[in-house]
Amino acid sequence: MPEPDPAAAIAERLRRIAHVALDLDGTIYRGDTLFPWTPGFLAKLERLGIGHTFPTNNPSMLTGILERHALTPERLAMVGDRLYTDVAMAHRAGALGVLVLSGEATREDADRAVPPPDVIVNTLAEFGDLLAAARAGGP
Ligand SMILES: [Mg+2]
Repeated sequence: MPEPDPAAAIAERLRRIAHVALDLDGTIYRGDTLFPWTPGFLAKLERLGIGHTFPTNNPSMLTGILERHALTPERLAMVGDRLYTDVAMAHRAGALGVLVLSGEATREDADRAVPPPDVIVNTLAEFGDLLAAARAGGP
């Protein structure tokens, strides 16, 4: 029997994503500057037919989002730069927890996290590429 392939398992989870909840500071911008890749990432989501939400001031989030968009947790990805809020929230909701390294958490923080983020990317642009590749049947 073949060994389970973690990359294939993540690609399968990425293929099911219908909605992405995006943290703001450290994820789509830093300070008062939008990251240069953010507009392209949002355009890519639209091309892929994936919705997005910015869950601003309600830290309990991901049930509100699930109900409003009629989603099951495996259809939702929560993306953020903090392990103990963004990624922890994703895990609590049963959603895909995506850590971007464009803000607070470092690769070393991510390596120490228990449970670890499901996906670790340098930027949203990299996450967009993964979503597109998963839908194309790759990577
Ligand atoms: Mg943040």
